[in-house]
Amino acid sequence: MLKNSPNALLNKSIFQHYLTLPVPDDKCQATYLWIDGTGENIRCKTRTLDFIPKKPDELPVWNYDGSSTYQAEGANSDTYLMPVAIYKDPFLRGNSKLVICDAYKYNKKPTETNKRHSCLQAMLAAKDHHPWFGIEQEYTLLDMDLRPLGWPKNGFPGPQGPYYCGVGANKVYARDIVEAHYRCCLYAGINISGTNAEVMPAQWEYQVGPCEGIDIGDQLWVSRYILQRVAEDFGVIVTFDPKPMEGDWNGAGAHTNFSTKAMREEGGIISEIEKAIDKLSRNHLRHIQAYDPKQGKDNERRLTGRHETSSIHDFSAGVANRGASIRIPRGCAEEKKGYLEDRRPASNCDPYSVCEAIVRTCILDE
Ligand code: ADP
Ligand code: MN
Ligand code: MN
Ligand code: MN
Repeated sequence: MLKNSPNALLNKSIFQHYLTLPVPDDKCQATYLWIDGTGENIRCKTRTLDFIPKKPDELPVWNYDGSSTYQAEGANSDTYLMPVAIYKDPFLRGNSKLVICDAYKYNKKPTETNKRHSCLQAMLAAKDHHPWFGIEQEYTLLDMDLRPLGWPKNGFPGPQGPYYCGVGANKVYARDIVEAHYRCCLYAGINISGTNAEVMPAQWEYQVGPCEGIDIGDQLWVSRYILQRVAEDFGVIVTFDPKPMEGDWNGAGAHTNFSTKAMREEGGIISEIEKAIDKLSRNHLRHIQAYDPKQGKDNERRLTGRHETSSIHDFSAGVANRGASIRIPRGCAEEKKGYLEDRRPASNCDPYSVCEAIVRTCILDE
């Protein structure tokens, strides 16, 4: 099935020999990660450091050719990488690091797809409310022909029903990738909180969170990088397209669970969650525009009002309602405190944009 994937054909046990070669104790490899001009794809490049970094501000500012990532003109192409968070590298291991960065143009202004810069301003302004986020990242695995992994070449799998949280060789495909990714995230220091097979075959989910403030964006982007890298090793493609298959197949979202300190306290539902839902109801369009990289165009294919989604045109909220924009989990309604789930963000959303919009609407009243 993966015969036409050059990566899958390489012998991984030969590679183990090189990966276990000793390297000098006082050096490490740092792989800098950033978001390119599509606002969806991650780029990376690696450099040697002659010290082992502990905090991002010890790391050198670096640069790259922004004209090759849809982020600059060729004649003025140097684009800056500012390290913002460090994780352990589950691929190179040892003292190696993954370094998530945000990108700045030649004039030191954030690039168009650097959504972290303004997200951080919002998070700092809201920090006394201790906003927490948990994101459920859904994604779909594809073979090299861009067909969902394991689907028949000519035809379709049986209708949805047996696949969600499924077990067995005819229910789920490539659990190896899912488990490898989970372990890599734990190793790296990502606050990954779970995983499950999704409703459409070859579709999966994992959750990151709860994380406070800007951390959620940094961690989710690094978790996406790790997923792409693991799948690359197996010769499988990951797509975050929110509706990879038209027809009677579920799309892929990035449900964003949100709470403030007050919502988590006794009685938080009545005093705080309902207030937040009222504010969200009056800012539906702003949120739709922030919830996919094409200002709503990608989500239009997914938010149809069918397949466990609400219509992109309407705002709705309800306890345990998976057809609403906002769901209050039943457990929270019973305990009268907890969090709300915004089901609108697309799987290819930028979590910095999503969480910034939530904080500006619900906490900063902008
Ligand atoms: P679902 O029932 O919608 O499938 P999941 O279990 O997949 O929910 O995901 C729930 C997410 O909510 C997890 O990432 C979890 O960490 C996060 N979460 C739990 N409590 C809170 C909270 N108080 N504030 C924000 N996020 C939370
Ligand atoms: Mn979930
Ligand atoms: Mn899901
Ligand atoms: Mn959910």
